[in-house]
Amino acid sequence: MNAEIDRFVDIVSRSERVVGFTGAGISTESGIPDYRGKGGIWNRFQPVYFDEFVHNPEKRLLYWQRKAETWPAIRDALPNPGHEFFVDLHRGGSLLGVVTQNIDGLHEKSGLPSDSVVNLHGNTLETTCLSCSYRVDSDEVFRSLDLKGEGPRCPACGGLLKPNTISFGQQLDARTIERGDELARSCDCMVVFGSTLVVYPAAAIPEVAKRNGAALLIVTLSETPLDGEAELSVRRPIGEFVAEVRAALASAS
Ligand SMILES: [Zn+2]
Repeated sequence: MNAEIDRFVDIVSRSERVVGFTGAGISTESGIPDYRGKGGIWNRFQPVYFDEFVHNPEKRLLYWQRKAETWPAIRDALPNPGHEFFVDLHRGGSLLGVVTQNIDGLHEKSGLPSDSVVNLHGNTLETTCLSCSYRVDSDEVFRSLDLKGEGPRCPACGGLLKPNTISFGQQLDARTIERGDELARSCDCMVVFGSTLVVYPAAAIPEVAKRNGAALLIVTLSETPLDGEAELSVRRPIGEFVAEVRAALASAS
């Protein structure tokens, strides 16, 4: 038996209030590129800031062009064993929730109820009006997207439509941060999958969990600043790791 797997399984099965914290690394295993990582699209291009999106029609169109480029990968992505791991915990009754830095909606697609998922940076599967409460599936917007105009408008009020994600230069939603913080303070174990824990304020959430006495288990390919404080820090692909965890759990029960 593998000592890392044993320790992970031991801590998770003794925990009663588990919270997941996920980053780009879990989604790359579903074929979604890490747009902010090395060579990622956001490093090759100047970002479009939120203010520019609102006030500058050319920049707004540029934003939609880039979104359209990345949309098919996100629309077609399917959850992987990393996402399913949290669904298993949810079914077993020990999952408080999942806090994610990803915007791809894969935790919801995997079957977690949406009130168990905190999308710190929003959810790109949904498009909202910046002026009223209108909401629509992003797929509907992309199917009729006209990249020659000045970007899609709200059919209800004429306001600007925008995928429901946090843009550059835009604050994270205070209530969303508060929900993430609350989960971090309430859990007895935080499982981090695929985050390098360097993007703030998101990365503060595992710190809060640790400070409040939770066990910290990290599975991600690169080193993180919290490795030294974690009960376990594993440098392996998530899918591979989870497959062994599931096998160990199955043979234990
Ligand atoms: Zn509107």
